Amino acid sequence: MTRMLFRDDPYLRDASAIVQGHTNEGGVILDGSVFYPTGGGQPGDSGWLDWDGQRLVVATAVKGTADQIVLVPAEPRSLPPIGAHVTQSLDWDRRHRHMRLHTALHLLSVVIPFGVTGGQISATHARLDFDMPEAPEDKPALEAALNDYVAMDARVSDGWITAAELEAAPQLVKTMAVQPPKGVGDVRLVRIGEEDDWIDLQPCGGTHVARTGEIGQVRLGKIEKKGRQNRRVYVHLDG
Ligand SMILES: [Zn+2]
Repeated sequence: MTRMLFRDDPYLRDASAIVQGHTNEGGVILDGSVFYPTGGGQPGDSGWLDWDGQRLVVATAVKGTADQIVLVPAEPRSLPPIGAHVTQSLDWDRRHRHMRLHTALHLLSVVIPFGVTGGQISATHARLDFDMPEAPEDKPALEAALNDYVAMDARVSDGWITAAELEAAPQLVKTMAVQPPKGVGDVRLVRIGEEDDWIDLQPCGGTHVARTGEIGQVRLGKIEKKGRQNRRVYVHLDG
């Protein structure tokens, strides 16, 4: 199992680690990872590993078997040996853009209160698919509402509740865009706003900025029709 260092501290850019294994495909497994593995519509992180005067460029990270995180080298070359002490470093600019856009998608799901059926993030823009038969009428108003939440500079925090606590708080479940898996242990909740006065609250395993102001000005992009029931809505970072 790889410890998910990005979950405790999404602002951790570098950390030391010990190589635990290699995969048949040429990937590297560390005991703890600052690299977020591809999942939930968010791309895996890129960066590099340094050891003994050598450097391996990491193209992305993916989930492996048994709760492992596999770092995928950008090109095939010698890997740090098992047991080696390495320093791992993120391509922070790219990851921080993912964090800003990921948090912006939470806000998008607030200003467009329809069920979410999918989503994808890149370093420049992100999108959510809504179960929404009609296109929203006032796009400028939605964009203004989104930027109001950014300007509010609301706190983003996370916590854990048990599946039983979730079961006992049906009003919480009602607010969630995605129903969490039941009976599989603890559920991570991400909250935007204050404890008793939140803007958004939903189960999520991704990386977020600490305050909505850090997202910066955003722009609503095109709204596409996807099948009979779905609308795909794009958000772009302005800078
Ligand atoms: Zn999230």
